[in-house]
Amino acid sequence: MVQHLSMLAAAVDGLLDAGLTEMSDGEVVDMMRGVEQSLRRADALSHRLIVESVERSVPASLGYNSPKKMLIDVLRISAADASARVAAARELGVWHTLSGDPMPPALPETAAAQHDGAIGVGHVRAITKVMRKIPHAVGNEALADAEAVLARLAREGTPEDVEQAGHRLLAYLNPDGNLGDDRDRKRRRGISIGRQDTELMSKISGELDPVARALLDPILAKWARPGMNNPDDPESPSGDAEDPSIDREMLAAAAARDTRTAAQRHHDAFSAMFRVLLESGMLGRHRGLPTTVIVTMTLEQLERAIGGLATTATGGLLPIEDALAMAEDAHPVLALFDHAGRPLHLGRRRRLAGADQRLALIAADAGCTRPGCAAPASLCAVHHVTDWHKGGRTDIDSLALVCDACHAQVNDGPAGWSTRSAPEHSTYPGRTEWIPPPHIDPTRRPRINHRHHPGELIEHARRQ
Ligand SMILES: [Zn+2]
Repeated sequence: MVQHLSMLAAAVDGLLDAGLTEMSDGEVVDMMRGVEQSLRRADALSHRLIVESVERSVPASLGYNSPKKMLIDVLRISAADASARVAAARELGVWHTLSGDPMPPALPETAAAQHDGAIGVGHVRAITKVMRKIPHAVGNEALADAEAVLARLAREGTPEDVEQAGHRLLAYLNPDGNLGDDRDRKRRRGISIGRQDTELMSKISGELDPVARALLDPILAKWARPGMNNPDDPESPSGDAEDPSIDREMLAAAAARDTRTAAQRHHDAFSAMFRVLLESGMLGRHRGLPTTVIVTMTLEQLERAIGGLATTATGGLLPIEDALAMAEDAHPVLALFDHAGRPLHLGRRRRLAGADQRLALIAADAGCTRPGCAAPASLCAVHHVTDWHKGGRTDIDSLALVCDACHAQVNDGPAGWSTRSAPEHSTYPGRTEWIPPPHIDPTRRPRINHRHHPGELIEHARRQ
């Protein structure tokens, strides 16, 4: 053993000193594969030594109450690494009966594959993880078959392949087992979309049920493929990777340049899918307007074209640069308005009858007009503001965005609110004023909602 180890050290010395520059590309790759194989075989050697030390009670004689603690001290490895090595030795090592006869390893095919240098630590971990989940009720023969199947897969694939095949194997061997029942899945399904944070990013979390997953995977396979839908690469094709109109060479070149992570590609695929869905016209109308991105910004913001935030009708914020970039593409699902309701950009050529009033209101009100209500324009309907004194007009000045919950509070009863357009000489002429019922304010002073106009909120706070 000592002699072999010194030969191994000499061989490693030789490899470390050998020149690499004279090697061909193919030889470099072959070398990588050869070194990997030897390192994997060395793991089998580690098992042998652990088995030997445990069978001789070396840890106990050195004062350790477990082989793991000895490995930590002697090899200076982490606790996690030490327990993984002891567990692997238990399943892959050749142990002996009390009379000294060798016993086959608990996972014989896996041990053989490791001995050949065909599989590494990652493969072994994947196999043992699956094997541990197989219920013993399936019987020894089925267990042995499963191990042989996994070891064969490991020789040909990656640890991920083994784990994936393992899920299927488990479902086959234990159809009523770990999968949980349909009720659990129904309860757990969900996607939560968080608020925009200070960097305007929105956190998504949740769980897909198996049907949603089955529907999603084939879409991502095409739309999230490397090179596709990459916003950082102007030459990247958009849409579906297998669309016959996409130039194959262009896609291949874009894929070679693509440095996005899988998560980033998924994100960009979603963004591209949302755009196509909006452009398709399939979504029809929402509260009388085409389902579209409606953005409001001031004329001043438009002229400066940089810095600042535009607001969307759904209550979101969008950097001005991004809104203008969308408009530059003659984006068919974008409408830009200034706060007075004047159109700055209309993505759709076709004018929509009756839509203008709503668009003007989205620009002017931005959301529900009742004081304190945060409902964005997309949750509001257009309501007639019945003038408190004169009793109702129906031109643009007497229309307002009101969400359904707030609208229910406008009535002639003793606890009802009433509304009117703010008079010419007031601070915000033309805006919708809400007059509280006496139990809220005995003086019934009209109020205006500043929630959707942050500039006013600041102004308001300064004045007080
Ligand atoms: Zn409201």
